[in-house]
Amino acid sequence: MSLLTRCARVIPALLVAAPLLAQRPAKFGPQVTQFVGVDAPVVAITNVRVIDGLGNAPVDGQTVIITDGKITSVGSGAAPAGAKVIDGSGKTLMPGMVGLHDHSYYTTSGRVVQSNYSAPLLYLASGVTTVRTTGANNPYAEINLKKTIESGMFPGPRLFITGPYLTGGSLGLGSTMVALNSEEEARRVVAYWAQEGVSWLKFYTGVSRAAMKAAIDEGHKHGLKFTGHLCSVPYREAVALGIDGLEHGLFANSDYDKTRKPDQCSPNMMQSFVGLDVNGADVKATFKDMIDHNVALSSTLVVFELFVPNRPPLDQRVLDAMTPDARSEYLTSRSRIAEANAGISLDVFKTGMAYERAFAKAGGILGSGVDPTGNGGALFGFGNQRNVELLVEAGFSPVEAIQVATSNGAKALGIFAETGSITAGKDADLVLINGNPSQRIADIRNVEMVFHNGLGFDSAKMIAAVRGLVGAR
Ligand SMILES: [Zn+2]
Repeated sequence: MSLLTRCARVIPALLVAAPLLAQRPAKFGPQVTQFVGVDAPVVAITNVRVIDGLGNAPVDGQTVIITDGKITSVGSGAAPAGAKVIDGSGKTLMPGMVGLHDHSYYTTSGRVVQSNYSAPLLYLASGVTTVRTTGANNPYAEINLKKTIESGMFPGPRLFITGPYLTGGSLGLGSTMVALNSEEEARRVVAYWAQEGVSWLKFYTGVSRAAMKAAIDEGHKHGLKFTGHLCSVPYREAVALGIDGLEHGLFANSDYDKTRKPDQCSPNMMQSFVGLDVNGADVKATFKDMIDHNVALSSTLVVFELFVPNRPPLDQRVLDAMTPDARSEYLTSRSRIAEANAGISLDVFKTGMAYERAFAKAGGILGSGVDPTGNGGALFGFGNQRNVELLVEAGFSPVEAIQVATSNGAKALGIFAETGSITAGKDADLVLINGNPSQRIADIRNVEMVFHNGLGFDSAKMIAAVRGLVGAR
């Protein structure tokens, strides 16, 4: 403590430039400890299958040792004397997921709910140990959530918070976004949020190129990064303006809409995906620009799947987590989509899947998230698991899909040195799963324990604490 204080005085510049990762809290409050199943300075998980998050083949019979919240050894050795031993027979250990599009709020057709209770619990319970919120509906609620988690008073993942959505044009009554309608406004808004402690900002569908450029130039001076759920600015133009990430795979890219007018969101973007050749020259040009500029792409297939008729299969744990009203709003929307055969066609959805697979094959950094919005069927954490299943449906092998959701996300956020793989020296952000997701990807739902911040959290207890509350708090 005194050393840190002294260093802070002597080298303040170094501290400013340090990563935004918080230190492990000095102590944890009862809201945290009630969910803790394992709390020991040295933990050895023995006889466990390891999926390392780097895309390598799983290795059976491993011993993974955690010391003071860090992975200190991965191998075939025995547990050290005095360690708390967890028998991993029949189980799999994978890295904690890095959720790249993981809001702290939730929507159905009937509600928008800031979810500072259910979101952090369900993310952590599902094996998501790092989250980028990627658009705040209530930025100060997120700032306070982050402070509460970092002070050890509430359980939750490591948070990268993102400030309000940056868009353009005129906004409707009740919008919580900010319209950047001049370059001066763009710079002023971005400088303000940099001081408030956000680490990323997200552009939305109405932003102009001029505002985007001014915002990025200002934000990069403060160390901020930018991503976008775009429409008015196509991916290739956003990359040229310096954007750092792009959201929703193919589904927000107007590169292929020939009817689009500059700085305007065209109603024909979805139509431009019909019959798109993901191996064609247009798509290759997008991928080349993104890869050359190190721009990551977030997969959120799970939220688009909600609008494909009769998908996804109804998931009882999702329904159980919702309030009765939220559940009925979701089920009503789901049956309307099925009856009207409306929404997103299966063909376009499959094109979106193929696009993500082609981007990763070309060498792009594809990450994964949930986006718990839409009609309410994609929940915090559960939806992150479902997105991994959808990546397997898209053609990734299970270990490749897990790599997308773990180490690729860490790379996109610039924290790969600290987390995202089962590697000695990294933070012990680990998920113990009953079963073998490398053979059966749906086993990724069978999370037993999640290690984060030096504690082993009991997944079932956290899910039980949220039951019936998603859509309320
Ligand atoms: Zn979103």
